[in-house]
Amino acid sequence: MAKITECQRCPLHESRTCVVVGRGSQDAAVVFIGEAPGKNEDLKGRPFVGQAGKNFDKVIERLGLYDDQWYVSNILKCRPPDNRKPLSSEVEACLPWLYLQLKKVEPRIVVLMGGVALDAVLGFKGITKYRGQAFYEGKVVYFAMYHPAALIYDKKKQDVFKDDLITLRSLLYKLGIVRKKR
Ligand code: URA
Repeated sequence: MAKITECQRCPLHESRTCVVVGRGSQDAAVVFIGEAPGKNEDLKGRPFVGQAGKNFDKVIERLGLYDDQWYVSNILKCRPPDNRKPLSSEVEACLPWLYLQLKKVEPRIVVLMGGVALDAVLGFKGITKYRGQAFYEGKVVYFAMYHPAALIYDKKKQDVFKDDLITLRSLLYKLGIVRKKR
C-alpha cells in the first residue's frame, strides 16, 4: 500500500488540502474515531482542531486521560466537499488505513464517536440505539457515543452525552486505564 499522505484510493484526494492522519500517542490505550475532517482539519492536517475539537478536548479532560493515553483519528482521512456525509465507497476505500493505525497502536478500547464510525467499524446502524454501550471483541472493547459535533447542533443531547462519559469513565477505571473512579 502507498503512503497514507499520498493516498489516491478515492476521488477525495482531488479536493483535499491535507491528508488528516491522526494525533495523539502511538502507545495510546484509548483510540477515539470520528467521521471525517472538516474545513479546519483539512487546512491544518490535524483531526479535531475546529469547533468539534473544542468539545473533543473537553471529553479528554472529563475522562481524566493523560496525553500519552489517547489517540484520535477519523473514518475518512480526507475532507468530503462541504462536509457532506461520507459515501460508502469512500469509507470502504479508506478503512484499510484505520485498520493499519489500530494494528500499530493496539489500543485496549476504541471509542466510536457518531453513527458513521459505529457503522463503519461494527456495522451497527443507529447511534441513538447503541450509544452508551460497550461491545467486546477479542481483546478490544468498543464503546459507542454521540459525535462531539452533535452537541453543537442539538443541545438536548448534552445530558445524554455527559451520562455516556460517566459510563465510559467507569469502563476506563475497570480496565485500569484511569486510577480514580470519580
Ligand atoms: N469532525 C470529525 O469527525 N472529525 C474531525 O476531525 C473534525 C470534525
